[in-house]
Amino acid sequence: MLSFAISAGKNISFTVEHQCPQCGAPITLGEEVLFFVCGFCRVRSCIAQKNFARYYFPLSADAPTDNDIIYLPYWRFKGVRYACHFSGVEPRFLDISALAMEGALPKIPFSLGFRSQALSLKLVSNKTQGKFIRPLEFKTILQALDKPGRALKKNNPPVFQEDIGETRSLIYSPFYIHKDRFFDGILNTPIQAVLPGDMDIKSLDLCRPEKETVFVSGICPDCGWNLEGHFNSLVLVCRNCQTLWRTRGNKLGKIKYKSAKPKQPDDVMIPFWKIKADIPPIAMETYADLIRMGNLPKAIQPEWEHQALYFWTPAFKLQPKVFLRLTTQFAIAQPDPPLEKKIRKNIHLPITLPPGEAIQSIKITLASLVRPLKDHLPGLSKARVVPRETRLIFLPFEPRHHEYFNPDLNIAINKNILTLSGNL
Ligand SMILES: [Zn+2]
Ligand SMILES: [Zn+2]
Repeated sequence: MLSFAISAGKNISFTVEHQCPQCGAPITLGEEVLFFVCGFCRVRSCIAQKNFARYYFPLSADAPTDNDIIYLPYWRFKGVRYACHFSGVEPRFLDISALAMEGALPKIPFSLGFRSQALSLKLVSNKTQGKFIRPLEFKTILQALDKPGRALKKNNPPVFQEDIGETRSLIYSPFYIHKDRFFDGILNTPIQAVLPGDMDIKSLDLCRPEKETVFVSGICPDCGWNLEGHFNSLVLVCRNCQTLWRTRGNKLGKIKYKSAKPKQPDDVMIPFWKIKADIPPIAMETYADLIRMGNLPKAIQPEWEHQALYFWTPAFKLQPKVFLRLTTQFAIAQPDPPLEKKIRKNIHLPITLPPGEAIQSIKITLASLVRPLKDHLPGLSKARVVPRETRLIFLPFEPRHHEYFNPDLNIAINKNILTLSGNL
């Protein structure tokens, strides 16, 4: 049996204990941090995950030390589920943690929601002592949550849905057996008065997790200058050689970008992923295809039959409804401003949405555009998005009283929604 829980409405954020890769100083950072400057040696580092982060909660200092620690795995997912119904697209914020093992004792906590956010997580390494239970796959857990009667199940099943992630990590929580009783290793309290006879530690499916988190030096690989970036930015800038970088494995990879020229020094540069994609079996290659499938009130111009269709998604996290409004407005607008390869002194909004998630959002954008939905949604649910080209493009928006506005596109973003929390 699978156990699970949803911490509905709670926005849980953990902290993680790291060590500076240069000087070894302990540093506690929020789990969303991707770039930091060490307070002791001033060295800059990027935090990269090879796959997903593996963390553990440390055992209580009061726990007896002569017992094996047993780490139980929990999947953690934070993100937005976009459910596409015949009545429209319904976004919903998810913050899930779910025990990722079968046949657990009934009193083992089924989520991490009860864990104090005051406790810091540590990175699992090959030196971490203890027995680690092999986790069930993430998608097994997500599918289990979708079964009838389960937490994520809605009465009205969607035609299709996409989970666009923000955080996915595996968190191990410590337990131990002491005098035939099973103890919660954080609270140091027994959770089962007597251990059932069939609970045999040796029969549990164990694994040896490796460290998946690596530090990459925050120095421009081309010119050796210090990179700059907001703490949660996926992309860092070298202002000396005007290049952008992102971690790939344990290296930095160069990101191709272009910018539309700002008109004013106080224009805010907002990043977008501009994507060309095939969506087989749907014919959605030209602007005319979009106008037709969207039943948009525009007379199709002959040249639109040859104009390649691009999808534009904000390259940063945004309220789901605003995100969709922008992706649909951009699909209709098909911006094509003159571009330069330059990072000017204007404020550049940090990039916090990876291109993979932007690509995943294309079907949701189409579900918000095509009409009538009853004709197009079943076909769209079976379609596959095959990206052909992904580019990072900065567009200038001028600050107005309540909004940021791009006059060429006639598109506005409310200031309350877009808090300028940092610079690239
Ligand atoms: Zn340091
Ligand atoms: Zn450089």
